[in-house]
Amino acid sequence: MSRLRRDPRTERAAHSVEGGVRPRFDLAALPTGKRPRRDPRAEQRQATVPGAARLRLDRSQRTPIAVAAPERQVVEAAPQLRIITQPAFLVAAVPDAPAGRLTPHDRQLLGAARVLADAGGGAVVAVSLGTIEGLGAAGADRALVLRADEFDPEGQARALAAALAALSVRHALLPETADGGDLARRIAADLGEPLFTGVESLTAKAVTRPAKGRRIEQRMVPPRLMTIAADAVAPHRGTTHEAKAIEAPLAAASTARGILAAELVPADPATVPLAEAAFVVSAGNGVTDFDVFRALAVALGATPGASRVVCDAGLMPRGAQVGASGTVLEANCYFALGIAGAPQHLQGVAKCEHVVAVNTDLHAAMIERAGLAVVADAQQVMPAIIAALKAEEGA
Ligand SMILES: Cc1cc2nc3c(=O)[nH]c(=O)nc-3n(C[C@H](O)[C@H](O)[C@H](O)COP(=O)(O)OP(=O)(O)OC[C@H]3O[C@@H](n4cnc5c(N)ncnc54)[C@H](O)[C@@H]3O)c2cc1C
Repeated sequence: MSRLRRDPRTERAAHSVEGGVRPRFDLAALPTGKRPRRDPRAEQRQATVPGAARLRLDRSQRTPIAVAAPERQVVEAAPQLRIITQPAFLVAAVPDAPAGRLTPHDRQLLGAARVLADAGGGAVVAVSLGTIEGLGAAGADRALVLRADEFDPEGQARALAAALAALSVRHALLPETADGGDLARRIAADLGEPLFTGVESLTAKAVTRPAKGRRIEQRMVPPRLMTIAADAVAPHRGTTHEAKAIEAPLAAASTARGILAAELVPADPATVPLAEAAFVVSAGNGVTDFDVFRALAVALGATPGASRVVCDAGLMPRGAQVGASGTVLEANCYFALGIAGAPQHLQGVAKCEHVVAVNTDLHAAMIERAGLAVVADAQQVMPAIIAALKAEEGA
């Protein structure tokens, strides 16, 4: 595409004022930028003190005189809440939401559902097996909570398949995770529909995924059932949506189930692999009392970790090393004691939702990364936390 070349001389000539001895131009008529143009002559006339023999200027009332100030456009404030009353169609998102909280991957899933819904006046319905916080901010217009046994993936898939059929959703999206991926495959089998797994790019017109060891890319129009890969689509960042609770006209669910008895056995935080731990407390070079550190990990019910310096010194096992050359965490909460926050260490905690840091140096990178920071000696903070936990237990 080519643009017409400007000719400033011709433009100026178009604004020349006839009749003067010297060339004069009516600059007020020239196109102005965003800022109003000043007129120094008019300003001087305004400041001239009348009646004086010589020219005297009173500049105390200095107000620049604008030449043809462009009209200000009134920008209306964006609405606080977006309500879609009559959606043209529904896009279902089925987040994992462990313990009722959206993971970053769940937010991306809702972001992907928003892309599909916004393209044609649709609405996003979050379908879950329990109540979830913050669905509206994540982009959900409707929220449907299903009752299903948490130990029965078969029953969960049946309930979800029935809900998706009852709502006649145009698309149903699940995260490509261990739980979400399993549910998606079961739902596809129940509904007898094809499933497009591991979507890595999504628009209203096409979805793509890699295939054959990433040597080729498969592309198709957005199918009805799909799973979204992690970090493939941006989460919704716009206006908060309504997330109005709805009920689906469900068919009576079958009571037949393969599981006769089930119970939740909590993992032992001391032995759970670091990569799977939900809460990790780590010691860095600023920790000197490791007996108190281990007692703190037990009292908090957290999995112990460490920086590389501590592991190199043999104060903690190599398996406890957090970071680029250790373990990359996916914990909800990371509690860093006396850790500077070197880039290699921070890479290991990039996916942690909450970071709490204790450091004597206010300017440590770990303090900057933390959502909550205590600038104090770790040797004093650790026993104080243990004492507070004991006092709480006693009360
Ligand atoms: C190729 C490569 C890979 C690496 N991989 C990793 C990795 O995977 N994981 C990793 O951790 N490191 C890794 N490192 C090392 C990394 O660069 C840092 O050297 C290391 O993380 C520093 O550990 P630290 O923060 O515990 O110690 P330091 O850098 O010594 O920091 C100690 C911190 O404790 C604070 N402090 C001191 N006294 C106290 C006190 N009494 N109370 C509270 N705070 C106190 C200090 O202010 C300081 O911020 C790697 C390095 C390289 C070159």
